[in-house]
Amino acid sequence: MANLLVTGGAGFIGANFVHHWRAVEPADSIIVLDALTYAGNKANLAGLDGVELVVGDICDTDLVTNLLDERGVDTVVHFAAESHVDRSITGPDAFVTTNVIGTHSLLKAAKSVWLDKGMGRPHRFHHVSTDEVYGTLEPEDPAFSETTPYAPNSPYSASKAGSDHLVRAYHHTYKLETTTSNCSNNYGPYQFPEKLIPLFTINALNGRNLPIYGDGMNVRDWLHVEDHCKGIELILKNGRIGETYNVGGGQELPNIQVIEEICRVVDAVFEADPDMALRFPDAPAARGQSTAQLMTYVEDRKGHDRRYAIDETKIRSELGYAPSRDFPEGFAQTLAWYLANEEWWMPLIKRAA
Ligand code: NAD
Repeated sequence: MANLLVTGGAGFIGANFVHHWRAVEPADSIIVLDALTYAGNKANLAGLDGVELVVGDICDTDLVTNLLDERGVDTVVHFAAESHVDRSITGPDAFVTTNVIGTHSLLKAAKSVWLDKGMGRPHRFHHVSTDEVYGTLEPEDPAFSETTPYAPNSPYSASKAGSDHLVRAYHHTYKLETTTSNCSNNYGPYQFPEKLIPLFTINALNGRNLPIYGDGMNVRDWLHVEDHCKGIELILKNGRIGETYNVGGGQELPNIQVIEEICRVVDAVFEADPDMALRFPDAPAARGQSTAQLMTYVEDRKGHDRRYAIDETKIRSELGYAPSRDFPEGFAQTLAWYLANEEWWMPLIKRAA
């Protein structure tokens, strides 16, 4: 039985992980530490028994130290971050504070409780990071592996790279028992509607434009969040200490193809269910028109990385990881979740308006 502290567990991936871990290890205790920024949402943890939410900042080293010590935490799974690249371009300070200083605060607390005070009691610090630390790829370049040199291009990816290096340093210098995962673009339930898939899905339902950056040919590897959570589970249970593992979805797609799929599936759902037109009368599909008419090209993001791709040979061969969903199946499940959980996303849209 383990005692987990999940940072950022009220955010998108963290909450999915808490749901996943509750299902696979129901006897474990879980404390979520989350500052409930705009991206955090208590509702993401609704219906979960035995999960305690502590509202607090990972930069508060005393708070984290006390939680680790007094609550006998032996496993930290660290998701908390500022995570949106666009926000990092207009306001990078929060990214350096939370992603770099916040991660260092957690590492200091873990070292003091588990190593300095705990005389090496069994522990694990798992750090969740991104493939964006590797920079951008040309069309013919090989995919990112764990040995690809870091070349972050945005304030977001630079701050995540800084946090990865600190985790590595705490392992090498102090022998803190760490693992790190660098994953590709996630999508699925509970994703805050500023990221491409929930934003475009909800815009399509409400008849709002689908703003496509540049020529729409930026390529990402799309990973369903439940596959990501299974990958983290494998690393926590069987990953080698001090190692990093890349986690991908095996679905390398240009944005335009993702957006066309969203339009196609939304059209199909309206065609199959007459109630959809009553629920979402502003959607073009409610009038029998194509959702694709909402596609609008806008000025490209500053410094927009062209292509990310993940070589997941290491996690596949060492840990038996394999994503279970392709993008069409994963998106159909995601759309069904957003349709069934309008009361979850409607307040978020109203707040942003
Ligand atoms: P998110 O923005 O949805 O959630 C982040 C959570 O962290 C929120 O609940 C927020 O309240 C919390 N948080 C922020 N600052 C905090 C602080 N100072 N103290 C405590 N809590 C704080 O992010 P996400 O998409 O779930 O991403 C989770 C992790 O996965 C991040 O580390 C991110 O870099 C990484 N990641 C995400 C993706 C993706 O596609 N979403 C891809 C690769 C890596």
